[in-house]
Amino acid sequence: MSIIIESFDFNRLEKLNDHLLKNSNKFHQIIKCNGEIKEISKKLDDYNEDSPISSVIIHLSVKQLIKNEQLVSNYRKFIEEIRVKRNMKATFIIVLMDYEKEREDKHFSVISSQFFQAKASMVTMSIESIVNALSVISMSMGNSGIFSCPICKEYGIASTLSQDELREHIYMFHSTLSLDEIMEDIPLCPFCDKPMSQGSRIGTHIHENHGPKGEKTEKELSLSTIYPFCLVVVRRKRDNTFLLVNEAAGRGYWLPGGRLNVNESMQTCAKRETKEETGIDIELKGILRVEYSPMMNYSRMRVIFYAEPVDENQLPKSIPDYESVGACYVTVDELKRLNLRGKEPVLWFNYVSNGKPIHPLSLLSLENAMLP
Ligand SMILES: [Zn+2]
Ligand SMILES: [Zn+2]
Repeated sequence: MSIIIESFDFNRLEKLNDHLLKNSNKFHQIIKCNGEIKEISKKLDDYNEDSPISSVIIHLSVKQLIKNEQLVSNYRKFIEEIRVKRNMKATFIIVLMDYEKEREDKHFSVISSQFFQAKASMVTMSIESIVNALSVISMSMGNSGIFSCPICKEYGIASTLSQDELREHIYMFHSTLSLDEIMEDIPLCPFCDKPMSQGSRIGTHIHENHGPKGEKTEKELSLSTIYPFCLVVVRRKRDNTFLLVNEAAGRGYWLPGGRLNVNESMQTCAKRETKEETGIDIELKGILRVEYSPMMNYSRMRVIFYAEPVDENQLPKSIPDYESVGACYVTVDELKRLNLRGKEPVLWFNYVSNGKPIHPLSLLSLENAMLP
């Protein structure tokens, strides 16, 4: 494999130079040129070896790029030219954005996105990352397997790799491909020949079906079951009392609340459960806490609301039914004399009585809701 390196100052690439020296047996040719597009173009024109150019490294000074917007645009066009006019689809193009003073990454996002649009493979501020990437690049030149990359094989890159090697190659070389380009360039999975369907990423397919042995895929690791609950701390201001449910079957007194129904919001559930269990209509005033508790096979999420009765004179429910035996307002002192189902009423009633923070209801919203 051959590498072309264009740099405005090779002295700054000490770590890279060291690495190339130590691993010189892996490289057919390392062609260096100094800081100009026409220089590197000439090197590309003159290159006529059998060994493919597996990587082009372009070393640019951020100071220069910021001062001279034309420079960004020139290099952008140049990378496009390498890809399109020179048809170097398989070459790994690295842009090193070098911060001469400190490694602050101001301007990195905007400038790097332009190089990515031009189909750069990697844009980085880190020479260490280039050294690490070179190991995948040289591995892509190996011949220890039977698999080949549908994009790179015709250029003599990644044509005889093991499954693990080709997987790493595809992740690094082709992760910037759009879905349309994947369909065109990699229509079939190189391992199982399964067609890549519209909108599916080759990376995801390989990760889920041909991942490293013994490692769980993200699909297997991802949690599919979350049980959502809400609890409500309802305070009647006029006498500083709190609403408790006398739960059926002698389970004790507890906060109103319960598990969400299908297609129900937390807020609706809080009002519904409070009405069913206590007979009281409430107005939600805030959120005390959002709890998420991961467990082995599922997770539980609870939102604890703060609310006040709409009508302080409305009497709590006293006819037993499926939902509860009844409900009542209690003072913090009276809690000691009741059989509680857990300690939360004591904790939260004291919390609210002591004027601790109550978070705004807007903390909990639907996805894409308008911002306050
Ligand atoms: Zn490839
Ligand atoms: Zn497959």
